[in-house]
Amino acid sequence: MQKSLRAYINEARKEKRAIGHFNVSNLDAVHAIVEAAEELNVPIILGATEGEEGYIGTQVLAGIVSVLKQTAKVPVFLNADHHYSFESVKKSIDAGFDMAIIDLVKLPIEENIKITKQCVDYARKISKEFGRDILIEAELGFIGSSSKLLDGVPEGVGKETMTKSEDAKYFVENTGIDLLAPSVGNIHGMVKSGEPALHPERVGQIYQEANIPLVLHGASGNTDQDIRACIDRGVAIVHINTEIRVAYKDALIDSLTVENKDEIAPYKYLPMAKDAIKRVVIEKLKVFNNK
Ligand SMILES: [Zn+2]
Repeated sequence: MQKSLRAYINEARKEKRAIGHFNVSNLDAVHAIVEAAEELNVPIILGATEGEEGYIGTQVLAGIVSVLKQTAKVPVFLNADHHYSFESVKKSIDAGFDMAIIDLVKLPIEENIKITKQCVDYARKISKEFGRDILIEAELGFIGSSSKLLDGVPEGVGKETMTKSEDAKYFVENTGIDLLAPSVGNIHGMVKSGEPALHPERVGQIYQEANIPLVLHGASGNTDQDIRACIDRGVAIVHINTEIRVAYKDALIDSLTVENKDEIAPYKYLPMAKDAIKRVVIEKLKVFNNK
């Protein structure tokens, strides 16, 4: 039987490595990310936000990953990234996802706790009934909301809105979540002029108080050193989305307008774009896994 995602996360934490989480909108990304993980022989998490999941199809994506669990040379897991309601988390869990992120960061904390707890209770119920260990992650502290190129740091994100370790402790104790995504200088998307620095010392404080593995979202554009410092202090999963989106689009434009200008077969003009994702993923996985 395949080891659970929880076991891989704990193992990574112990060895001060992180599991890479990369988002997928189509099959090119799925193949690129899994091939990259196979090349480095590390477990991998594919993620899909509500938007990405809607494009591929919840059931179809779960089906693809269930096939990959049998055929890939490395463990492949599937995450419902940034889902905004209990119903949407439930739908992904029911389809076969291994984990889900309930993102209610915009709600007052007590309301956030109530719905997050509902997701945790549902995951435990399914786990008890079907023996599937499903992880629930939640976010605390605003880090912006979209994986795109930004002209500046989004409004409402800053040092004063970073997650406080005592809030993290309170939130974890009252929800029972498995993983926490804090705000530690990270932002969704990538600031064109350069990303603000991460705060690894805050990561360490939160990890100590919350006492569960942390997840670094919005790591596109951050330096390898900053990311490594956060992994050393409690981060067990790192999310990259914007960088692979940019790589895919740039390579696709190049392929369509220059390299394969007269080509009409998708399987001939798409590989350039797919390989661009793969190259980014390989570089990131080396950083996350100390390779
Ligand atoms: Zn995120």
